[in-house]
Amino acid sequence: MGSSNQMRLAVLQALSALCQESGSFHHDRCPLGVTVSSVQMEQWHAHGPDPPGSPFSLPPIAGRQAVPQRAAVKVQRASGERSMVSKTFEVRGIAALVDLPRLQLGAVLAHELCHAFMHLFRFPRLPPVVTEGVCELWAWLWLSASAAAEGGEEAAARLRLLERNADPVYGAGLRQAKACFDEFMAAPGDGGPRTLPEFMKLVRRKRRWWVAEPAAPAGGGRHGAGARRRGRKR
Ligand SMILES: [Zn+2]
Repeated sequence: MGSSNQMRLAVLQALSALCQESGSFHHDRCPLGVTVSSVQMEQWHAHGPDPPGSPFSLPPIAGRQAVPQRAAVKVQRASGERSMVSKTFEVRGIAALVDLPRLQLGAVLAHELCHAFMHLFRFPRLPPVVTEGVCELWAWLWLSASAAAEGGEEAAARLRLLERNADPVYGAGLRQAKACFDEFMAAPGDGGPRTLPEFMKLVRRKRRWWVAEPAAPAGGGRHGAGARRRGRKR
């Protein structure tokens, strides 16, 4: 990541401005965090062979690998001339609201890091229920690890809040993401235990949830279970 990348805390007004700039989905409401990412395009004409190491395919998602930030797309003209469009994927910064309780801040940052991950690994445009659902899953996993490590009641309470969220995008998205994640992790992997990066790879390939949303727990609010999906269905 370049030197322009930063993680910082911002007051509500500054955070709202960043949300508008980023055009992110969740920010018609009071934002808690935002990831500002960009794609820089460069175009040139190519006459010779492809430059060595041009990543024409999606980067592999694996352990501690560096993320290739550039992708080149070839355009073949009818005249036979080729153009190359290079795209550079960057995360310019992540911001979270000031003065959040520690555990909530951690969960917000986990959610935003998932957005950053999906941008850097060039996920396709997904329905908001999938994107926000998997980001909420990262927040859930972070809180779950905190609850296990600290045995705190607050982490457990925050987990329940996420699980019972009546929002048709965030709540339903999390429940679907978690059902898929649990199913994925329970199945035998090819050599060794399954991991979150492997799960993310599957999400990128499938572009949707593959198991039905579990019924929302009782007391889930007025929307309850059976919330409708938004966005494209593929
Ligand atoms: Zn989000």
